[in-house]
Amino acid sequence: MDALSPRQCAELRADLVTLIDQLRDLLAASESGCRPVGLDQPIGRLSRMDALQQQQMAQATRQKHELRLGLAQQALTLLERGTYGDCRRCEEPVGYARLKARPETPFCLECQSEREGKN
Ligand SMILES: [Zn+2]
Repeated sequence: MDALSPRQCAELRADLVTLIDQLRDLLAASESGCRPVGLDQPIGRLSRMDALQQQQMAQATRQKHELRLGLAQQALTLLERGTYGDCRRCEEPVGYARLKARPETPFCLECQSEREGKN
């Protein structure tokens, strides 16, 4: 896999900035959906369970967004330092195609699948 060209770096930098903006917006928008379900709300037992389930799903989505936001911010820091695009595990270049699809990813495809296989 080739290292990134300056042009590819600039493009991925723009992608990261956009991604960070989008994730911040998503997190801000989902804040209201994460309030605890009020006990005094006039809803039945079933709909209360529905509400709790929806709340758990919203929280899981939020956590994913938060994780991704953290990775994107780290990636941007690495870009500033000029060490962006190298796999954090094997230190080989991650590759432009993969970074274009997921600019925040800290691992190459091989290391990522290995990690996921272990979990
Ligand atoms: Zn790797």
